[in-house]
Amino acid sequence: MAMAQAGTGSSPRLRSTLDAVPVYVPGKTAASGWKLSSNENPYPPLDGVLEAVTLAAGRMHRYPDLHGTELTNRLAEHLAVPAPHIALGTGSSGLLQQLMQIAVDPGDEVVYAWRSFESYPIATRLFGAASVEVPLTGDEAHDLAAMAQAITDRTRLVLVCTPNNPTGKALHRDELERFLDRVPVDVLVVLDEAYVEFNTDPHCADGIELYQERANVVVLRTFSKAYGLAGLRIGYAVAHAPVAEALRKTAVPFGVSTAAQSAALASLDRQDELMGRVADLVTERERVYEALLRQGWTVPESQANFLWLRLGEQTSGFADHCRDAGVMVRPYGQDGVRITVGEPQANDALVAAAARYR
Ligand SMILES: *Cc1c(COP(=O)(O)O)cnc(C)c1O
Repeated sequence: MAMAQAGTGSSPRLRSTLDAVPVYVPGKTAASGWKLSSNENPYPPLDGVLEAVTLAAGRMHRYPDLHGTELTNRLAEHLAVPAPHIALGTGSSGLLQQLMQIAVDPGDEVVYAWRSFESYPIATRLFGAASVEVPLTGDEAHDLAAMAQAITDRTRLVLVCTPNNPTGKALHRDELERFLDRVPVDVLVVLDEAYVEFNTDPHCADGIELYQERANVVVLRTFSKAYGLAGLRIGYAVAHAPVAEALRKTAVPFGVSTAAQSAALASLDRQDELMGRVADLVTERERVYEALLRQGWTVPESQANFLWLRLGEQTSGFADHCRDAGVMVRPYGQDGVRITVGEPQANDALVAAAARYR
């Protein structure tokens, strides 16, 4: 019988698909200075939210409510959708993996725009599926016509990120509807709306409206960005019952902690205050956008809490320059740099650094 010998240094045989999985690169944390590299909300938790989490921490010896019943009902009311259409997850990153679990078999194809959220290739390849990456248009938006054309009979999942991370461009309702009309009904389409709260363009699509009449559309949202709960890991999907149910089946049991559920509930109670902060960030976004334009940079209009500079070969040079000026931004290979909109002082530091680069 052939058996690996103990102590020879050989390692256990793991799935070969892992070799094709890129490693997630988190935004760098500034030892001192400003972190504008991870699209986080710069504001600390609101009083009521911190209290709710503190209370929940006192119950950490108990498992959380498996399905987050109270939060699910609350979200259903907030979004005006049926509660069975909601599936909670450990951030939308958790739900993204679950979407792969429910929709793709090895060898199937997943279509998404590129460049877009870096978790897409990771999640796709983790499940042995093939990435079909459709280049963005010249103005940094999803090329929906090309994406529709890229769909084959092997396609099981299409990921649409709007506003798109890292370019900030958002899709209009009419173009997205035309696209959805072209996607076969047995192909699941994910509308990743991680930044929807920052979107001020009235022509833009709202996934919650779009999914209503479409059995194959699932909307992903998160409490990580506008709601400022990135560290607690909580997001949700909205989809028709069969899809939402499948997502609940594939969830890591008790993954969404009581602290996360409580914080989300408390945040929904403080919606006005939170959205006031979002409005301030949008004002800052416009201020930084204008300042960069005045300096001569090419900046796509962003509907999110970040701005994108396509810098090509200068990408890492610019990121290093900002770091030396005390501002961490997020470089992407030789493509460009994503700059999160932070507190006014951080944004001032970024604008000043950008001015000195030229
Ligand atoms: C940040 C982000 C997410 C959400 O991440 P969480 O796992 O919810 O923290 C999802 N999609 C995109 C495009 C993002 O940028």
